[in-house]
Amino acid sequence: MPIHKTYIVEHLDPELGPWSELEYVAIARETARAGGTFVLSSIPPELAAKLPGKLTAEPAFRADTKGVEELYPGDLRKRVCLLDPRAEKDINPDDRELFDVFLFGGILGDDPPRDRTGELRAKGFEGRRLGPVQMTTDTAVRVTRMVIDEQFTLNMVPYLDHPDLKINEHESTEMPFRYVKGDDGEPVMPEGMMDLIKKDADKSIDDLM
Ligand code: SAM
Repeated sequence: MPIHKTYIVEHLDPELGPWSELEYVAIARETARAGGTFVLSSIPPELAAKLPGKLTAEPAFRADTKGVEELYPGDLRKRVCLLDPRAEKDINPDDRELFDVFLFGGILGDDPPRDRTGELRAKGFEGRRLGPVQMTTDTAVRVTRMVIDEQFTLNMVPYLDHPDLKINEHESTEMPFRYVKGDDGEPVMPEGMMDLIKKDADKSIDDLM
């Protein structure tokens, strides 16, 4: 029986950069396949007016200038689960009975992690961890969906930690995150992400010259 959960990313940055755009489009597409809804909450009104068309065209995508506390006030908040790298308990398939909404920090990964998810933890949502390794936001949503919609336990998910991505014949770059391992043995990443990583690597080399 399909279950229609809501995956909500609370946008915590003033801008929406190209990395986040690719991640959010991937989340919207994959959430639609599972019959769910993807809400990007707490968007500053000036940003709401200029969200990329690629994102707003996705049928599962909904943008909201309201924050998660306003969207789920009072008792509704008990049905919201914050995916929190510092939570005491790991997520498990039975959590689909406890929660209707899964909340993520709309933050780019950083190394070492700065714990910006703490801004959402401070609002008092019940938390679950996705294991000990930092994931990109789209990976965190993907793994949550595998556990909640597809009833995987965390140890059944195939992972790739800190993969080396080949930038060109001579260089590679290590990504400081955990990814889901695809059927081709490569990390599952949003469409266009590999090109963006290569472009950013070229830019940093140019900046050094
Ligand atoms: N460096 C970060 C921080 O400051 O908290 C982590 C950002 S991570 C790229 C974006 C979001 O993905 C987090 O806010 C959290 O909701 C989710 N996430 C990533 N890895 C996770 C993990 N191992 N357990 C639970 N949630 C995770």
